[in-house]
Amino acid sequence: MPTIPQRLKQLLSQIKDAELASLRQPGSVLLLAVSKTKPARAIAAAYQGGQRHFGENYLQEALKKQQELGAYAITWHFIGPIQSNKTRALATHFDWVHSVDSLKIAQRLSSQRPTFLPPLNICLQVNISDEASKSGISLTELPLLCEQTAKLPNLKLRGVMAIPAPQHDFEQQRRPYKTLYQAVKKLKQPELDTFSFGMTGDLNAAIAEGSTIVRIGTALFGERN
Ligand SMILES: *Cc1c(COP(=O)(O)O)cnc(C)c1O
Repeated sequence: MPTIPQRLKQLLSQIKDAELASLRQPGSVLLLAVSKTKPARAIAAAYQGGQRHFGENYLQEALKKQQELGAYAITWHFIGPIQSNKTRALATHFDWVHSVDSLKIAQRLSSQRPTFLPPLNICLQVNISDEASKSGISLTELPLLCEQTAKLPNLKLRGVMAIPAPQHDFEQQRRPYKTLYQAVKKLKQPELDTFSFGMTGDLNAAIAEGSTIVRIGTALFGERN
């Protein structure tokens, strides 16, 4: 089995190929390594290979790893569901939160962001799946929530995150990303520069539709239990 640094290299070359195939600028897509359920030593191995951005879904697990890896210059992204009693810790210990899906959560993150830190980067999670899924706002709610969250002082609204229902067909994988990308572009807010689109199973389709951050776990760290 390939090592984590070998998989990282392979993944970065797959991302570059997808960028070129879509006539995208090489380097325009950031790899976010999703390390949920994986030990700190797996993060350390990817770090040795040059990876700096890591994504976690569960707060307690993430805080523990952050402590173990305190000496590493890691940019931490939170990508999991948010309970309102966790916002203070998120606002304190993360650089990015991708999964904001209500004004209340955004307001709490803004008011609880320590003022000695730069504004917290956030994405709004949008549910563009045809299936009835759990998290995320609808496309119709997007313009208003963008307007409201953009005004919060200690947040920096960067864009949107989506987790479409899994599809095997490339064209079907592209469709929801295309819809959301166009909806964001219609808002004509140039500061919305982030499309957190794509996981192990659909990263090529996501890059074809404008992804700027792919969130990859399995292809880098192996299957989760
Ligand atoms: C687990 C997870 C990922 C990574 O999924 P893989 O299929 O393992 O690449 C990406 N995004 C979110 C929100 C996740 O929860």
